Amino acid sequence: MNVDLSQLTEWRREFHRFPEIGWSEFWTTSRIADYLEQMGFEILLGKQIINEDFVRGRQSAVVEQGLANALAYGAKQKWLDKMDGYTGCVAVLDTGRAGKTVALRFDIDCVNVSETQNPQHIPNQLGFRSLNDGFMHACGHDAHITIGLGTALWLSQNKDKLSGKVKIVFQPAEEGVRGAAAIAASGVIDDADYFAGSHIGFCADSGTVISNPKNFLSTTKIDICYKGKPAHAGAAPHLGRNALLAAAHAVTQLHGIARHGEGMTRINVGVLKAGEGRNVIPAGAQIQLEVRGENKAINQYMADQVMQIAQGIAIGFDVDYETEIMGEAVDMNNDPELVKLVEEIALAQPEVHSTNADYAFNASEDATILGRRVQEHGGKAVYFILGADRTAGHHEAEFDFDEKQLLTGVKIYTTLVQRLLG
Ligand SMILES: [Zn+2]
Repeated sequence: MNVDLSQLTEWRREFHRFPEIGWSEFWTTSRIADYLEQMGFEILLGKQIINEDFVRGRQSAVVEQGLANALAYGAKQKWLDKMDGYTGCVAVLDTGRAGKTVALRFDIDCVNVSETQNPQHIPNQLGFRSLNDGFMHACGHDAHITIGLGTALWLSQNKDKLSGKVKIVFQPAEEGVRGAAAIAASGVIDDADYFAGSHIGFCADSGTVISNPKNFLSTTKIDICYKGKPAHAGAAPHLGRNALLAAAHAVTQLHGIARHGEGMTRINVGVLKAGEGRNVIPAGAQIQLEVRGENKAINQYMADQVMQIAQGIAIGFDVDYETEIMGEAVDMNNDPELVKLVEEIALAQPEVHSTNADYAFNASEDATILGRRVQEHGGKAVYFILGADRTAGHHEAEFDFDEKQLLTGVKIYTTLVQRLLG
């Protein structure tokens, strides 16, 4: 294996062919582990990197299907055993020399999109389109896996030039901001002095790196379930407990949460499902909602109010209730020292002609949970955007990106590690 564009392209196309949705990335993880093992890394899996209390939005049907698909596609049993139901892995490189610790993060999941049949689409032309119907690497996380592996390969060949430790996090379930919290809470990167993560594409074309994206929105995705009691709507409505009515009241109250005076907030109830039949007092209701806030504290205010209302309504309507956090991300401010370093490194690449430091991200990304965890333990963090020309928007069926930027990504990460640990 050499860290060159042909190796990177080969990896990217291999992962592109077998996209897996969040928490079902069993084949993806096992394949990453195969490569990391060949490179000589220590590989942490399963509960070594996952705190089960912070696992968000993981559905058992998706997990079961993912396991079955992975086995059918040739995932190694030894990795599946070590994963113990939880996808993702962390590669650890200990140089054996005292020094700092750098954590890098690459997300590995796909999105629920069916890849286009358009014959002009390069994965169709070159025969590496998705084999998993209804799923596609339409956000570029196949690029992220590849850049992570390329960085790992370089590290394995150059560790004599470094001191300290590198931890490469291959994170599951970024879509829906579900995977980072469990990894952060496992403590696996608590010893990191530096953290770096990135996304390919978005607003930036090939040749541009956004070294300091701002305005990451904090968000919490919450499900509320009301459970009442069915009864005959004509003869005995007084014996029923109406979950639909409880949920309907909850929805209007949720949208009426007082706005925070110190910053932007959002709330959206996106799904309300309730009831079984016209003449039955509805016994079940489910609400799916999200809140957002300008920062972690303001978002937490919104989430706390949601929990309060969920409970208050349950008492008022005499129904049982459950809430579950399905996903979360926080805001994060990049540390200027690392922004400067990324900028300098990016501009030193001949193919990069500009760095845009002040781009407003205005979306959520759960790498922020890992970055902030490192910052809260006294470390420094940076998240940047690696420009790449695209054929369509992210999460679209025709999405594809300029594969040459894979090498640019590897060069930025490997130089960054060299500068921090060299
Ligand atoms: Zn993405």
